[in-house]
Amino acid sequence: MSDRSFSSRHIGTSAADRDAMLKAVGQPSIEALMDACMPALIRSSDSLALPAAVSETEAQAELRAIAESNRPMRSMIGLGYHGTHTPAVIRRGVLENPSWYTAYTPYQAEISQGRLEALLNFQTVIADLTGLPVAGASLLDEASAAAEAMLLARRAASRGASDVFVVDSRVLPQTLAVLRTRAEPLGIDLVVTDCGDETNLPESMFGMLLQYPGVDGAILDWSEAMAAAHERGAKVAVAADVLALVLLRAPGEFGADIVVGSTQRLGMPMGFGGPHAGYMSVREELKRQLPGRLVGVSRDSSGAPALRLALQAREQHIRRERATSNICTAQVLPAVMAASYAVWHGPEGLRRIAEDTAEKAARLAASLRGSGIDVAGDSCFDTVVARMPGHADTVVAEAAAIGINLRRVDADTVAVACDETTTEADLRIVCDAFGARLAGATAAAIPVSLRREDAILTHPVFSSHHSETAMMRYLKRLADVDYGLDRGMIPLGSCTMKLNAAAEMEPITWPEFADVHPLAPREQTAGWRRLIEQLEGWLADVCGYAAVSVQPNAGSQGELAGLLAIQAWQSDRGEAGRDVCLIPASAHGTNAASAVLAGMRVVVVACDEAGNVDLADLDAKIAANADSLAALMVTYPSTHGVYEESIVEVCGKVHDAGGQVYVDGANLNALLGWAKPGRFGADVSHLNLHKTFCIPHGGGGPGVGPVAVAEHLAPYLPSDPMAEAPGAVGPVSQARWGSAGILQIPWMYLRMMGPDGVTAATASAVLAANYIAARLRESYPVLYAGEQGLVAHECILDLRELTQRTGVTVEDVAKRLIDYGFHAPTMSFPVAGTLMVEPTESEDLAELDRFCEAMIAIRAEIDQVGAGVLPVEESALRLAPHTAAVVTGDEWDRAYSRTEAAWPAGVSTAKYWPPVGRIDNAWGDRNLACTCPPLDAYTG
Ligand SMILES: *Cc1c(COP(=O)(O)O)cnc(C)c1O
Repeated sequence: MSDRSFSSRHIGTSAADRDAMLKAVGQPSIEALMDACMPALIRSSDSLALPAAVSETEAQAELRAIAESNRPMRSMIGLGYHGTHTPAVIRRGVLENPSWYTAYTPYQAEISQGRLEALLNFQTVIADLTGLPVAGASLLDEASAAAEAMLLARRAASRGASDVFVVDSRVLPQTLAVLRTRAEPLGIDLVVTDCGDETNLPESMFGMLLQYPGVDGAILDWSEAMAAAHERGAKVAVAADVLALVLLRAPGEFGADIVVGSTQRLGMPMGFGGPHAGYMSVREELKRQLPGRLVGVSRDSSGAPALRLALQAREQHIRRERATSNICTAQVLPAVMAASYAVWHGPEGLRRIAEDTAEKAARLAASLRGSGIDVAGDSCFDTVVARMPGHADTVVAEAAAIGINLRRVDADTVAVACDETTTEADLRIVCDAFGARLAGATAAAIPVSLRREDAILTHPVFSSHHSETAMMRYLKRLADVDYGLDRGMIPLGSCTMKLNAAAEMEPITWPEFADVHPLAPREQTAGWRRLIEQLEGWLADVCGYAAVSVQPNAGSQGELAGLLAIQAWQSDRGEAGRDVCLIPASAHGTNAASAVLAGMRVVVVACDEAGNVDLADLDAKIAANADSLAALMVTYPSTHGVYEESIVEVCGKVHDAGGQVYVDGANLNALLGWAKPGRFGADVSHLNLHKTFCIPHGGGGPGVGPVAVAEHLAPYLPSDPMAEAPGAVGPVSQARWGSAGILQIPWMYLRMMGPDGVTAATASAVLAANYIAARLRESYPVLYAGEQGLVAHECILDLRELTQRTGVTVEDVAKRLIDYGFHAPTMSFPVAGTLMVEPTESEDLAELDRFCEAMIAIRAEIDQVGAGVLPVEESALRLAPHTAAVVTGDEWDRAYSRTEAAWPAGVSTAKYWPPVGRIDNAWGDRNLACTCPPLDAYTG
C-alpha cells in the first residue's frame, strides 16, 4: 500500500508508531497481537470479497458515475416527502460542518451546550406548532413515531383496558404498514376505519391515530372524533404535517394528547427516504412516558442557566424488561437542521412559505376544476386529489415526460403535492398533463374554523438571526462551545468515534442523490439501487451473512428487525410458542428493549468474574426454558471489551436447544477482516454504520442499523412499506431503504479501504486499546482482559476501589478530563463505577499519549485527595469543569491554583473552554423546562 493510500490517512498511527505501541504492549507484531487476543476458533479462513481499495479521487469518480445514473426530477408525489430549499448557510454551516456532524450524543452536557441549544429550539418549534407543551428531540421517522405514540397510549391506558388501537383510514400508507409490524407482536388489535363517523368507533379502545391533513389532502375538524375517543378513555395521537401546522389550528388545542410527524420539509433534502427527524410532543401528564431524549434547562455550579438531557432516569426507556422504547441513536443532525431552518426563516418566513404552498395548491385545484376536472374536497393545504376516470396513468406519464413526478393513487385518481420549491412553470406543466389551463392566483383553501389564530415562534431566537451574517455567527457560536472530533479524541467505549472523512461526507449533498423522492419511478433511481445493492453485498461479505437490509434507521431498529425475523422463521416452522430471549447481564439497554418490543420475554444470563457469559448459568437458563427458547442475544466481542473464548460453544448450546443466535454487531470494529459473526455461529446481527462504517454520530444521529441474516432468515428481512402484500415481517422504517441519503458514507469508506484497509484498521484499533490499557494499568486497574491479558478494541478502567477510598467518582474524572481538553470515555456502562475507553484506529499516537498523560495526571490528583491533602469537595476534580469566567473572576478562594484549574500539565493554548460549570441535573428535573426559556431567565 503506498503511503498516500486512503487507509494510511484513515488510520491515525504510522508504522513506526505501531512498532513503538507493540513494544509497550509486549507483542512482536500485529499478527502476533491478533493471534494472542482473538480466539483461533472465530478467525475466518476466507478472505474478504470486497473490491481492492482505490484512491479518494477514483472512488468519488466511481460514485459520481453511479449518481449520474439517477435522474432526479421534480417530485410532487408528497406522501410525507416534499421538496424544500436547504438554506445554503445551513447546508454549509451545519450539514457540511464537522463541528456539528462529528459530535456525540450530548451526555456530557457541559461540552454540548451548542447542540443542546439547537435541540431546545427544535423542541420549542414542535411544542409551538403542535400546541402541546413537551416535545422531545427527536424520533426516527414519522411512521415509527406513530408506532411509539401507539405504545405510549397503551402504557398510559389503565390496566385491563382494551387492545384496540383505531387508525383513521386517511393515514399515510407507510405509517399504517409500520404500525402493523409493531402492533402484531404486542397483541395490539389495529382497527382501520373512517374516524370522521363516530358510529365506526368500537366501544372500547386504548388509542386512536388521525392524520392532519389526511393522505387525501383533506383538512378535517377532528374535535368530535377526539371527544368520542376520550369518552372511551382512549388517548388521541395525531400525525401532522409540520408546515401545515404553521397555518392550521394546533392539534393540541382541540384535544390531541400526542402529536407526531416528520420535519423533513423544514430544509432537509428528501435523500431517497431519509434521514429526517421525526418528532413527538405530548401533554404535560405524559412527559415521563415520552420515548427518546428530552432536552431541558437547568443551572450550573455558579447558578447560570445550562442545558442538559432531562429526566435521564427515563433512559429507563431502554432498560431491560421495563423497557418502553428501544430508541437510542435518533436524528439529532436533521433536528438541528430543522430547528435552524425555523431560526433562519422565523415566524413570518415560515408563514410565507406555508401560505405560498397552500396558495399554489389552491390555484392548482381551481385550475383543474375550471377545466371541468373533479377535485376531491373543498379544503386543502398542499395536496390536490383529482379524479380522471381511466386516465390516471396517462396523466402521470405525461407529467413525467415533461419532468414532474405525480402520484398515481389508483387507475382513476391522481394526487399532486405542492411545496416550497413548486414554481409557476411546474404548475403549468401539471395543468398541461391534465389537459387543463392554469388559472390566476387563488387564496389558500383552508377552512376558516381551522385557521391558526395564535402567534408561533415568539421566542426572540426565532427573530434574531435573519441576516446571513447573523445566522452564520449564530451557528458558529453554537458549534464553538461544543466538543467534536474536530477538537480531539472522543474515546467513548461502544460508540466507535472514528474518522468521518471529508471524501466520504461530500457525496451526501450531491443533488443526484439528495433530491430523489423515495417513491420516484424505478427508471429514475437506477443509481440509488446500484449503490444500495453493492453496499448490502459488501456488508454481507464482511460479516459472513447471506443477505442484508439497510432499512433499519438505527441499531435499535436493526435489533427489532432481526428478532422479528427469528420469530417469523420459527413461526413458519410451527414453533410460534418460542418467546424467551436470553440476554447477558452486560448487554446494551437496547437489546432487552428490542426483545420486549418483539413480544419476547427477557431472561437475563449472568456473567462470571472474568466478565464472560457464565456457562453454568447459560445451561441452567436454557434448561429452564427448553421449549420456549427463541434466541440468545449477545454482543461480540462482549460489551466488556473482550473476545470471549467460549462464543462458539455458546452458539452451539443455543442451537442445540432449538434457539437462534443474535450477535449484536455494534462492536464489529474489533472483527472486521479477521472474523465474521455469520461464520462463527450467529444467525443474525445488526451493524451500526454510524460506528464501524464511518457515518458520523451527528450529535446523536442519524444512524443506519442494517440487519444481516443467514440464508434461512433471508425471506424474513423487513419489507417494502409500500408493497401491496406485506412481507413476512413488514417494514420497521417508513422508507424502503431507511436513511438511504447517507449510505454514500459507508460505500466510500469500504471502496477506499478495500479488504486490506479494513483488516489493518481493525488491528490498529485493537492495538490502540491495548496500548492504552498497558499505559494506564498502573493508574487504574483494567477490569476485564482475555486469557492472554489482552483486551479487544476497548478497555474498562475500574475506579470503584479509588472511589470507595477517596470519594472521587467516575463523574469527577469525566468532568476533570474536560479541563484537560478531552471528551470523557463511556461512564458506568456496562459496569457502574468504571470508564470504558475506545480509542479507535483513527487517533494518532500523540493524541493517545496526550490522553494517557491526562489520565495519569488525574490519578495523581486523586491521590492528593486520598492522602488527605484536600477534601474531595474542595478538589479540582469535584469542582470541574472550570469555565473561563470562574478562572478569570476577581474572586478565587479555592484550595488549588488557577493554573492548576485551567492549565494542568499538557494543556496547550488552543485549550477548549467549557461554557458552563458542572450542571445540576436534579434541580433541572425538579423544575422541568424543555422549551426556550424567556430571556429574563438568563439575567436572573
Ligand atoms: C450503540 C449500540 C447499540 C444501539 O445502537 P443505536 O444505533 O444507538 O440504536 C446496541 N448495542 C450496542 C452494544 C451498542 O454499542
